[in-house]
Amino acid sequence: MAFELPKLPYDYNALEPHIDARTMEIHHSKHHAGYTNNLNNAISGTDLEGKSIEEILKVGVDNTAVRNNGGGYYNHCLFWEVMSPNGGGQPSGELAEAINSSFGSFDSFKDAFSKSAATRFGSGWAWLCVHSGGKLEICSSANQDNPLMPGIGCGGFPILGLDVWEHAYYLNYQNRRPDYINSFFNVINWGEVSKRFAANK
Ligand code: MN
Repeated sequence: MAFELPKLPYDYNALEPHIDARTMEIHHSKHHAGYTNNLNNAISGTDLEGKSIEEILKVGVDNTAVRNNGGGYYNHCLFWEVMSPNGGGQPSGELAEAINSSFGSFDSFKDAFSKSAATRFGSGWAWLCVHSGGKLEICSSANQDNPLMPGIGCGGFPILGLDVWEHAYYLNYQNRRPDYINSFFNVINWGEVSKRFAANK
């Protein structure tokens, strides 16, 4: 069974004014579709065919096409889900407690995550990850790498990810990556992030 491009859980224009419809449409229907097709081509006829995407990311890092497109497939699936037109604000419950305990406060978390996203040189992602036991970690990775890949210096299970490739923001924000990062906080789906935290802590 080949991997399929997931449907967005909202319309292309649903995240405006924070993320514009044209960016969302190209990002989903061209970029994410491309990673999905190229992943399927890269694993077709190999022993990776039929494995879960998590398993492929774990064992496929030495194969450049699998690494780039498997990461691209997985990362964007996560990205669409952790945003919502009803997003923003702050988390509550256990996740809020874990953020306070790991970073001191929500504001300190926001500063550290934003800095990680802003200082990733070139293309990549910023992550919030949970380790077993509930400790949280912020990190960033290059290209389409992610924390499920061994040896990238970024551990735990990713529960929130921010795409800082220029294709994610350039039409609307041009070179102003920090403004895009700030806007992302208006669309974070904390309910979904909390679910991922609870399932992987
Ligand atoms: Mn992207």
